[in-house]
Amino acid sequence: MACAARIRESVAPRIAAFRARYGRSPGLGVVLAGNYAASEVYVRNKIKTVNEAGGKAELFRLDASASQADALALVRQLNADDSIDGILVQSPLPAGMGDDAEQKVFDAIDPAKDVDGFHPFNVGLLVQKRPTLVACTPMGCIELLEQEGIALRGKHAVILGRSDIVGKPMALLLLHRDATVTVCHSRTPDVPAVARTADILVAAIGRPAFVTPDFVKPGATVIDVGINALTTAAEVEGIFPEGSRKRAQFAEKGSVLVGDVHPDVESIAGALTPVPGGVGPITVAMVLKNTVTAAELRQR
Ligand code: NAP
Repeated sequence: MACAARIRESVAPRIAAFRARYGRSPGLGVVLAGNYAASEVYVRNKIKTVNEAGGKAELFRLDASASQADALALVRQLNADDSIDGILVQSPLPAGMGDDAEQKVFDAIDPAKDVDGFHPFNVGLLVQKRPTLVACTPMGCIELLEQEGIALRGKHAVILGRSDIVGKPMALLLLHRDATVTVCHSRTPDVPAVARTADILVAAIGRPAFVTPDFVKPGATVIDVGINALTTAAEVEGIFPEGSRKRAQFAEKGSVLVGDVHPDVESIAGALTPVPGGVGPITVAMVLKNTVTAAELRQR
């Protein structure tokens, strides 16, 4: 069974028990502001997953001209709503809300309802190795490694990318499982040489097919977090050979998704997650799991 399905299956009895005990479903409020095609897809998947599992996910829309104050008012309304256990504000927020909008809005979410795990309170708990709600993508990568029985203790994990939502929490989660962790970023000299020392390599940089076979130690486990849309024939032809499925997909649709890892890495890695269909669906399943965790914790 795929990792995301196992996560969904593991929370099913918890949802049933919650409903039996409290007479309602764990509730998730999803805030979507503006008109971003990718965000529409992500939000639709998250809501569908929660609702199909027996939770109650609701969409709250703000139009593209909404202000930061509007977003903050909506978050406060959801904080005060007792039927909402989790709040997720889909990134990005419209540019018109200002450069500081995401930080201000994420900070306004009640930490007990912070299913994305972005609130500084929850980040602090993670740093101190007493996590409750952890960012869905890196936590999902850990679920995958554990489900696949990939040993972490004493292994060298190299993470490409140091963002607050993927790279940094990923580093902490691996550190707390006794891996030796190196984090690379755009100022790291000779990233391929560092990456080649990894037993576990996590790519989260947002650059299509950046990680080529020379970054990878033979047999290493490679997790591709990147999701990049290619929209020109030149980009697609530079990565995928003639006659490949991706080229055919591009000819049909005019765009294809590719990770941060080059497809040629498959021949050298011990294991490699696909894009799409790898970390993405696991992240969505983790939104469900965090919603259930938040609902349970709020009743204590
Ligand atoms: P981000 O905030 O843009 O951070 C990118 C990181 O990569 C930064 O730390 C940056 O370094 C580093 N970087 C950029 N170019 C580099 C280079 N040439 N060498 C080494 N490091 C480099 O991105 P993010 O939000 O973490 O997302 C990363 C990717 O994961 C994106 O493709 C995103 O779409 C995808 N993603 C997927 C999921 C999922 O569910 N599968 C969830 C979240 C994100 P500096 O800090 O020095 O700038």
